[in-house]
Amino acid sequence: MPKVEESTSSPIPLLDGHVHLYPQSHVDAGVFPWQNHESAKINVQHSFTEYAADASTRTSESKSDPEVKYDHRGLIFVEVGRQNGEQSGYDQGVSEFAYLCEALRNAESGKAGEGYEPSDAKLLRGIMALAPAPHGSSAMEEHTIKLESVPHFDPAYLKGFRYNLQDEPAGAALSKGFIDAMKWMGSKGLRFEINVNTHGAGIWQLQEAREMIIRAHEGVEDAKKTRFIIDHMAKPDLTIWPSEEIETHSHFLAWQGEMMRLAENPYVYIKLSALLTETSAEIHTLGGREGAKRCVEPWVRSAINLFGVNRVVFGSDWPVVKLAPEEMRGWMEGEDTEWSAWVKLVLEVLRDIGLSQEDIEFLPYSQYRTLQPDSLLSPPTNILDHHHGALPIIALERDLSLRLKPRLPLLHIEPSLPVHINPSRLKKFTYIGKNQAATYPLIGANIAR
Ligand SMILES: [Zn+2]
Repeated sequence: MPKVEESTSSPIPLLDGHVHLYPQSHVDAGVFPWQNHESAKINVQHSFTEYAADASTRTSESKSDPEVKYDHRGLIFVEVGRQNGEQSGYDQGVSEFAYLCEALRNAESGKAGEGYEPSDAKLLRGIMALAPAPHGSSAMEEHTIKLESVPHFDPAYLKGFRYNLQDEPAGAALSKGFIDAMKWMGSKGLRFEINVNTHGAGIWQLQEAREMIIRAHEGVEDAKKTRFIIDHMAKPDLTIWPSEEIETHSHFLAWQGEMMRLAENPYVYIKLSALLTETSAEIHTLGGREGAKRCVEPWVRSAINLFGVNRVVFGSDWPVVKLAPEEMRGWMEGEDTEWSAWVKLVLEVLRDIGLSQEDIEFLPYSQYRTLQPDSLLSPPTNILDHHHGALPIIALERDLSLRLKPRLPLLHIEPSLPVHINPSRLKKFTYIGKNQAATYPLIGANIAR
């Protein structure tokens, strides 16, 4: 990537951890069950070329704001939603995979293809392929053999799978086959992306996902436990009007309670993506840019408090981000695309909630770390060795406030609420009780004190 010489601040490294790509021929074949009038904006080719234009990957610079610079280091492809309960849906997942493998191959040989110049195709860093997850480990094996037989298959790119759960009936993720498939993934060092919709479908989807994870890890040695990524922060209700009340809203508390339990499991990650798509039109017309930020902020703050920066991964959900309310255009600046508007909003929110510059520079790139084979295979057992490892701390005292310097300005800790902090910062934290600073019990982890 060309470096911008005039820049005073260094560009923020960014790995877009959630991108869907498809060529026009696949759109024309009508292979996406989600194609309808509501998705009209994205019912045309959205391939590498269109992504590169929207994300300004060739300039590594925000189109409208020269102060916001990022060093775009690539993208993770996530399956596009071809599942339809039939074998043909899974076969479509194979043809999706073939299109990506061809792009990778051409990027090497310098040959352009359907929807990409070779340089754009080089953006691909990993593939989260479609999984026939409900059908168990043998179906996963068979499907993977099909992927491996695709021309130019390179195992280094297959990072994991997704089977979209948000439209599935209750119990789907808890079937014997599904749990079996989840265990299989961990045994192969592959990750699984969980896409549930706590606002649209209900909080039960997240509860069920948590139960599924417990069963998938049951009786499995640490090294073979599947790593899970919760897409889009489980799609919480972003239509709640941004006011002081969000954090006491019953939906927020229910979501946070589930997230808190999920965060206790070190193999669960959360993806900061797609939040703008979930907002209501009013928030943009009445609140503008500030409204959108205040609407997103409480959820992001809570996710980072619970999971720590090392387990929050960043993604744009392009091109679905283009389905965010049209009213957003009222506050988007200059040549902003929905992609760049989202990236800028995230960086501002991270700043506003008090993250240090070091963490702001770490988070948009953090998923890169989880993609490394060694981090997939070795669990974070000795978490103090991990520079960005999370440390579970349970504050048992009543009325305890935890002042984190310099990361988060102030956190009010409920009794038994676990907070994940960065152990490399441990020395910088002071603990303030109601009347005095004191040592409070720290539970979990082999903390050297
Ligand atoms: Zn998506």
